[in-house]
Amino acid sequence: PKRHKKKKKKNKNAEQRKQEFGNLEDFEQLSSYGVLPRLIENIKKAGFAEPTAIQKEAIPVMMDRREIMACAPTGSGKTAAFLIPVLHYLREPRNNGFRALILAPTRELAKQILDVCKQLSVGIGFRCHYIEKASTATSKFGPKSKKNFDVLVSTPNRLVFMLNQDPPLIDLSNVQWLVIDESDKLFEAEGSQNFRDQLATIYKACSSDKVRHALFSATFAFDLQQWARKTFHNVVEVTVGASES
Ligand code: ADP
Ligand code: ADP
Ligand code: MG
Repeated sequence: PKRHKKKKKKNKNAEQRKQEFGNLEDFEQLSSYGVLPRLIENIKKAGFAEPTAIQKEAIPVMMDRREIMACAPTGSGKTAAFLIPVLHYLREPRNNGFRALILAPTRELAKQILDVCKQLSVGIGFRCHYIEKASTATSKFGPKSKKNFDVLVSTPNRLVFMLNQDPPLIDLSNVQWLVIDESDKLFEAEGSQNFRDQLATIYKACSSDKVRHALFSATFAFDLQQWARKTFHNVVEVTVGASES
């Protein structure tokens, strides 16, 4: 069968990637992708005058709905690099349950991402959430809820706890973007095998055939790269060095 055919595909180098996807030179250019004026306005209101290096490179790739493994130093603007294309793809609020899931290694980080997500959602109305407690989350987000929410930012632990109940306490079957932020930390952390198992559970729960995956990290991790190449479909690798950030 076709999907077992081993394609010898070299990772695209930066020049090839640029030719294929282009760079986002300024945020105005987002309108040529059909991005809502309100989202562009929110980006500016956040004080982002022009895209950082990783935003220039990663946004066009995700706009094209390609799976990505992106690596750029701490403080280089990775949060907006994935949130802008994800929120663009979601377009507007819907009552279909979570359509984007962002995983972060700590609650602190998850809450920071949630803040940026809310800031970029002003006037568009996305419902962005973080699970405080598994017990209250069930009535809010469980199978019997109104499904009036769009984005979930979470640490893996409590999400996996909810998914492992029978029946599961949360439904991720409509997730269209699964983003793993600080994926190097999650992979390298003590008990990272544990994380891989957790990730497998989450990955499986995001069962939509339309789901796309994105990995963002500050340092390059060989294990992670191998895992991404094996697990993701035709993954585009983008690396921005410290000097370019
Ligand atoms: P990273 O995840 O790469 O460590 P963050 O996404 O947390 O970086 O962003 C670091 C800081 O840079 C934040 O304070 C954020 O508001 C700011 N920032 C992000 N993108 C831009 C931009 N395009 N222009 C100016 N500041 C930005
Ligand atoms: P996190 O690192 O996200 O805080 P925790 O391991 O603290 O994850 O668990 C998150 C939540 O999942 C807890 O607040 C609790 O509601 C629920 N939970 C986890 N394990 C159990 C358990 N064995 N029994 C009941 N609830 C649990
Ligand atoms: Mg970050």
